[in-house]
Amino acid sequence: MKWVEVAINGPCCSGCMACVELAPEIFNFDEATDIAVVIKTPCPADIAHKVAAYCPDDCIDIIE
Ligand code: SF4
Repeated sequence: MKWVEVAINGPCCSGCMACVELAPEIFNFDEATDIAVVIKTPCPADIAHKVAAYCPDDCIDIIE
């Protein structure tokens, strides 16, 4: 299995929570700042790419 590092570009996150709903083992929601945060990195590449494709603001960065 391939693993990648994941990061969120916080300023562009609209807080839609799609990533948290798709992969709660990797993403969490910070209610203090109203943005998603990464709680597990590295993570499996297939999951990271799937979630990044769903992000409406294109703010999930994947480091191969
Ligand atoms: S899917 Fe993108 S915009 Fe939505 S909460 Fe996650 S990082 Fe933010």
